[in-house]
Amino acid sequence: MPEPQAQQRQRQEHKPQVQHYHQGHKGIDISVVIPLYNEEESLKELHQQLRSTLERMRVRYELLFVDDGSTDRSFNVLRDVKRFDGRVKIIRFRRNYGKSAALAVGFEKAQGAYVITMDADLQDDPAEIPSLIKKLEEGYDLVSGWKKVRRDPITKTIPSRFFNFVTSLLTGIKIHDFNCGLKAYRNEVVKTIQPYGELHRYLPVLAHNAGFRIGEIVVQHRPRKYGKTKFGIGRFWKGFLDLLTVLFTTRYFRRPLHLFGFWGMFFVFVGVLIDGWLAVEWALGRTALSNRPLFLGGIVLIIVGIQFVSIGLLGEMISKSKRSTDEYTIRDYIK
Ligand code: UDP
Ligand code: MG
Repeated sequence: MPEPQAQQRQRQEHKPQVQHYHQGHKGIDISVVIPLYNEEESLKELHQQLRSTLERMRVRYELLFVDDGSTDRSFNVLRDVKRFDGRVKIIRFRRNYGKSAALAVGFEKAQGAYVITMDADLQDDPAEIPSLIKKLEEGYDLVSGWKKVRRDPITKTIPSRFFNFVTSLLTGIKIHDFNCGLKAYRNEVVKTIQPYGELHRYLPVLAHNAGFRIGEIVVQHRPRKYGKTKFGIGRFWKGFLDLLTVLFTTRYFRRPLHLFGFWGMFFVFVGVLIDGWLAVEWALGRTALSNRPLFLGGIVLIIVGIQFVSIGLLGEMISKSKRSTDEYTIRDYIK
């Protein structure tokens, strides 16, 4: 008996969508990684929203909740949720290690061909997942959300603009919102980059450095409904120091002398010029060196310059002793 037309049409509509996804990646298309710290009020609602989006997409998925040492009832809530949804997986830290650590462990466990990360506080909207995946499939390896209209206090949005501008300028990555919690990755990306410390703010920089293509789409952002932010004012200092770390390690990790050696030599050169000139003046009997405070400046430059060169050489020694080909990301290997 022929199927009713409506039913037939429905099947045809869904089919190509499912075929989009990589088949056979350990049987899972999408892993959602959710770092959380004391978010007990949000978790049930978040789970509902995730489920409704992912069920509609008709994909095979897992929900990886990483409880970063919560001291509230977050873990119990998750266990209740897991009782009726086997696709929920829970990783619980013994103590609070930070968002980067939670992401790193989630990345390690994620099995899906695509990996979505999002915050647990309902500020990110799970309904954005299909658009993120669509963008990935246009040929990007990492797609970052851009909270164009941000629902956060102004003390957060203004410094964040500045950081994003500077980071984009210095790294050459053309996106507007580096630290958006909502992102999509191809599995290779999350197995390659390792967030540590608080480098979760700069994941696109790490991925870019490993040769991955970075894209961006505008996403909805919602105000925090329950609980409060886990990052205080200290975030700006840490963010700034982490920017230095990221810039230095992505460029000079394997060639520290190119940075320190250059500036070291430059300082020594300027120091020698200054002091040489003052010494000539002294020798000609024009002024006593005790009258020339600049002489001390020259000495400081020479000493600091030698220090810089030495630090660079030390860096080279450390780098040499830890060499391995693991750090190069291989795209294809055809035998
Ligand atoms: N988070 C975490 N460990 C921490 C701090 C935060 O896993 O030590 C989680 C937090 O539960 C949330 C996400 O990281 O799911 C983003 O945190 P938050 O919403 O406080 O940051 P904001 O939106 O203020 O930037
Ligand atoms: Mg938040």
